Parts: sequence; structure tokens; C-alpha cells
Amino acid sequence: MQSEKNRILSDSNSDILIVGAGQATGQLLISLKQKKYKGKIKVFADEKYYPYQRPPLSKKYLSGELSYERLFIKQRKFFDELDVEFNLSCRVEKISTNKKKIQTKEGQHNYERLVIATGTRPRRISIDSHESKNIYYLRNIEDAEKIKHSIKQNQSIVIIGGGYIGLEVAATAIKFGCEVTVIEQQDRVMKRVVSKEVSNFFEDYHLSQGVRFIFNDEINSIKRVNNKHEISLSTGKIIHADSILVGIGGIPNTEIVENTDIEINNGISIDSKCRTNINNIFSMGDCTNFWSELYGKKIRLESVQNAIDQAKVLADNIMNIDSAYDSVPWFWSDQYDLKLQIAGLSEGYDETILRGDKKTKSFSCLYLKEGKIIAIDAINRPKDFIQSKVLIQEKRRIDREKASNDDFELKQFI
Ligand code: FAD
Repeated sequence: MQSEKNRILSDSNSDILIVGAGQATGQLLISLKQKKYKGKIKVFADEKYYPYQRPPLSKKYLSGELSYERLFIKQRKFFDELDVEFNLSCRVEKISTNKKKIQTKEGQHNYERLVIATGTRPRRISIDSHESKNIYYLRNIEDAEKIKHSIKQNQSIVIIGGGYIGLEVAATAIKFGCEVTVIEQQDRVMKRVVSKEVSNFFEDYHLSQGVRFIFNDEINSIKRVNNKHEISLSTGKIIHADSILVGIGGIPNTEIVENTDIEINNGISIDSKCRTNINNIFSMGDCTNFWSELYGKKIRLESVQNAIDQAKVLADNIMNIDSAYDSVPWFWSDQYDLKLQIAGLSEGYDETILRGDKKTKSFSCLYLKEGKIIAIDAINRPKDFIQSKVLIQEKRRIDREKASNDDFELKQFI
């Protein structure tokens, strides 16, 4: 039955044109190949690379433990076999939904079906700095190279933002012997996503490795003095550093959609099948905002899981296999020998339960709302992480006494 459907698609010789060649596009191409898609595919990417993974850029690639070759999702040969036309270093400037065309500097291209997978870009600090030398943002391979070069020189680095990227870079920079200061606007690290207990644990761990923190403060201005940055903070403090990394979140890349009739609302609005409001235009990954049945609201996620799962759903739908996206979101962060794995979204929780012992660097924090589990942070506890995903999907009721008993396995709640 499925091959019959595939045949119809290939006969119609439909073109898929994809904008962006990141994690989601990499997965879409893999899934289409697995499903024996036969139509023509064109990819337009503003970077010069075939699809690669970004998570190592703030982790093992930055520390030098992962080679350049291993960043790539698949070897070039794989994509060549799929007969994909890659247009690298070729930014899409405009979309005309009426004419079913996209515009690049070099010319126009028609599409039958358009997939927008443009990801996000780093939010920038809005301060006056005439000297942007050694002020870094971390998004792509070039950014990682520059930061790597800088931290290898045992320099002092100020990191603006105590979120995942900032803390991962802090952990690596300390290993290279840098003097590291993290400036965070909030009163604790990763406040947007984890509980106070988990924040405090990570802060203490970083402190024990030599990282300095300044909380409840932000940058006023940056000047260049004696070949260093002089950073003035709102509270009047002045810090000097050789380099600065800014890690204060991402903004969805929706500029090319802004003057079209494609709906945007903190990202490109899609349904659970990755369809925009315009026929034959789809979107996936970090640039999308989608309705989550599980959480009963629209959400935008910046995570590999989301990019991969949405790409798989889109590939199914392209092949006329009915499929909808409603995964439990998950994410991870590596800092020193700590692997933080997060499943679900903890926003709106009214209770937390701790399992395990922080002293052993292996514990979990369960987030409950009205007695039901909505999320977990598992620190060096992969079993809790895996078992709780099912509980979160099924919104299971959790008994505090049992859950806080380390000998009780979470899967027993199923
Ligand atoms: P991307 O991978 O960002 O790809 C989008 C591509 O589209 C980019 O190459 C962009 O340049 C290109 N593009 C944009 N506009 C245009 C245009 N007009 N024309 C042509 N091309 C265009 N996630 C996790 O789950 N765990 C982690 O530990 C983790 N760590 C991360 C660490 C770092 C340093 C970064 C930057 C991200 C990390 N992420 C992590 C997030 C994860 O990498 C993203 O969620 C994922 O890459 C999203 O895939 P995507 O395909 O939507 O976007």
C-alpha cells in the first residue's frame, strides 16, 4: 500500500525545496531516503556546510574531544545518493507564495512544496561597543573555532548568560585554565528551565571548579582598554576580560516569511503535521511554533529532539503516511562530568520531588502539577530520565513517598 502511494508522488515529479540545512533538514533527508522518496529535492543553505550537529559546538568539539568530521550528520556520499541538489552558501532572500518561487541573490527557483527549516540566530546584546573584537556568539562552526582559539590561550573570559550554552562553555574554558566569570541577570543559573535545587547544585559545582558568578546584574557598556574589554555592569561593578561570550538565547529566523501570508507567532505557526497555514508550505525545527496537545498550548522549542521528531513526521506526511507530532520534549546538557537530561516542560509546576543524593552527583528532580508528573531533570541518572518520559506522556499521578525512595523504580508507576 505504501509503495503505491510513493509511486504516485514520484510520478507527479514533485519538487521539494528546503530552506536551511541544519539538524531538521538532515533528518528529513534521512527519513525521505529510508522511505524511498523519488522526487527532486533542492536545498538552499546560507552556511557552507552539509547538515551538521550544533550541540558539540559548546561541548566536545569546543574541548577538542570530537573531530570536525564527526560533527556532520551524514557523509556527503549519503546525500549525493539521494540525489539532492545542495546550494550551499546561498541564502534565500524572499518567498513568493503566489508564484511558488523563492529568491536568492543568484536568481529565482520554483517549488511544488516548500519546507522552511531556518532555525534560530543568537539574541544579541544591545550595548554600545565600538570594538566588537573578541565578543563572541556561539551558533556555528566558525563561532566555535574562534572561541576555541581564544580559550586555549588561558585567557580571561566573561560569559553573559547563565543558561546551557554559557555554562557549557564555562566548564570547558575552566578546563583550559581560563579565568571565567558568568554574569546572569536572574538570581540563579538556568532559572527559566530548572528548579532552585537543580540551579543551586550546578552553581555549586561550577564554583568548586573555579567559575565566578555575578547574579542580578547586567552589562551597561563595554570599552576596550589596554587591549582588554572593560565591562561596566548596572550595579557599578567593573570587570576586565580578554574575551566575552554572549549566550542569552535565540530568535527564530523568520525574516524571509515576514512579508508573506505565512502565519508567524514567535516562530512559524504549524500544526501537528508541520503544515503552515499555506497549502504546500511546511516548516520544522527551532523556527516553528506549534500546538502541543500534551501541554495544551503553543510552544517553540530549541532542541535536537524537536527538530528530529518534526522532520520524521513531515517525511511521513510527504509520503502520504498519516502522522502527527506530539512527543514529550527532551533536552540534555553536558557540564564537566555532569549529564543533565531534561524531559517535559516544568513551567507551572506546584511541587518537586528529589530522588537520589546530590553528594553522589546522581539525582533527579521530578516536577508535578496537581499530583501529576509534567517534567524531570535527571543528573547522571539516565534510567530515571528514560522511565519518566512515558509517565510524562501519560500524565501519571506520582506518590511522593514512593518516588523519593531510591530503591523504587519510576517505571513501577506505569
Ligand atoms: P539549525 O540546525 O539551526 O539549522 C538552520 C539552518 O538554516 C542554519 O544553517 C541557518 O544558517 C540556515 N538558514 C537560516 N536562514 C536561512 C535562509 N534565509 N536561507 C538559507 N539558509 C538559512 N539542542 C539539544 O537538544 N541539546 C543540546 O545539548 C544542544 N546544544 C546546543 C549547543 C549550541 C552551541 C547550539 C547553537 C545549539 C544547541 N542545541 C542543543 C540546539 C540544537 O542544535 C537545535 O535545536 C537544532 O540545531 C535545530 O535544528 P534546525 O534544523 O531547526 O535549525
